[in-house]
Amino acid sequence: MGVPPTSSLLGLDRGEITALVSEAGEPSYRAKQIMDAVYRQRAETLAEISTLPQEFRERLAQSGVTTGAARIEKKFVSVDGTVRYLIAFADGQSVETVWMPEGDGGEAGDGSEAGAEAESSGPGTSGAKVPSAENEPIAALKRCATQNRAPQDERRQAHGRSTICISSQVGCAVDCQFCLTALLGVKRNLTAGEIVGQVCAVLKDQKVSPPDDRINLVFMGMGEPLLNYENFVKAARLLVEAVGIAERRMTVSTAGIVPRIRDFGGEAIRPKLAISLNASNDALRTRLMPVNKKWTLEMLMAAAREFPLRTREWITFEYVLLGGVNDTPENAREAAELLRGMRCKVNLIALNPGPGIDFTTPDAERVAVFQKILREAGIPAFVRRPRGRDIYAACGQLKRTVEVSTSPELQIQSISLSPTPEV
Ligand code: SF4
Repeated sequence: MGVPPTSSLLGLDRGEITALVSEAGEPSYRAKQIMDAVYRQRAETLAEISTLPQEFRERLAQSGVTTGAARIEKKFVSVDGTVRYLIAFADGQSVETVWMPEGDGGEAGDGSEAGAEAESSGPGTSGAKVPSAENEPIAALKRCATQNRAPQDERRQAHGRSTICISSQVGCAVDCQFCLTALLGVKRNLTAGEIVGQVCAVLKDQKVSPPDDRINLVFMGMGEPLLNYENFVKAARLLVEAVGIAERRMTVSTAGIVPRIRDFGGEAIRPKLAISLNASNDALRTRLMPVNKKWTLEMLMAAAREFPLRTREWITFEYVLLGGVNDTPENAREAAELLRGMRCKVNLIALNPGPGIDFTTPDAERVAVFQKILREAGIPAFVRRPRGRDIYAACGQLKRTVEVSTSPELQIQSISLSPTPEV
């Protein structure tokens, strides 16, 4: 699949920028100036990089070099504060990127600081921790620390759960039957610069900046990241080294591209792993996720069990619950059996509905029963809050929808969808 040729600075790593600077006959410190301008100040044009001499900027422009900054084409704000961005690239293609100011609970129990509160009922426990008298001195210390918190800490606290969900491809080829993105098919891979560019555009728009602001990142938008492996891995490296987002604050979700899961385990810089499970046996999974024909549950579970986890790291399994299809108590017991003995947790997601998706959302009671069965089997299971459903920003809803309800009520069935809007 083609990726457009790039003359963008965004997407180049330190070595590549150093080579560019050297070829231009400029001193090597210019590389750091460019890295800072592109990834930290998030300059949108060469003219904004005031640390570079005017003459050098002009030479770069004449050679066709641009910053490569992503452009926010449209922005939809949910009643719950979630923002869905339609982000456009130079060739007119676009993807969606979602800002969740309060996160979506997906980080709960994964060992990251962002999930710390929710971890009170996290892995290793089968229910909520009961505060004990012995913990009171620790609690008092924490209260004291809170009272003495510096302004910067308060700023960190304010963004402690903010999460950006980014896309890795325009559309998706994996064809999960419950996902609106699948209806688009796949148009092309994103370059590393286009992946990082989404993050830079949202950080700039939200006026936040890691590492001072704690930002979580999930590769769970449009596309299957492990089918755009090289660009995804390079983007993750740039996000850590150049943008300043900690590795432990990033999670990549895959539908189960088994050979790439194995490659991914060996990467020097790698986000945490989430696997989109969604079924408890092969017949059901193949029906819901055709990718299962090629990489069966047995192959997937073997790769997951052998995945090299770091200290305090857990694999997350995502399970989208579809009413009457994969949400029975028997499914829950089968899923528990599949996951038995693994260092993992499960995020349960009640289907986020959308036109063209022939499944229904299970009621809360059914979700609770499913969760209870997993927990009783010793598997930490969390129910993720849907974020931004009213603006088509929730899991599985990313389809470049440009017409959304302005009502705070969910009116999804009455929304008219534009299949692939020109941007
Ligand atoms: S759920 Fe993910 S992998 Fe499956 S079709 Fe949607 S975007 Fe692709």
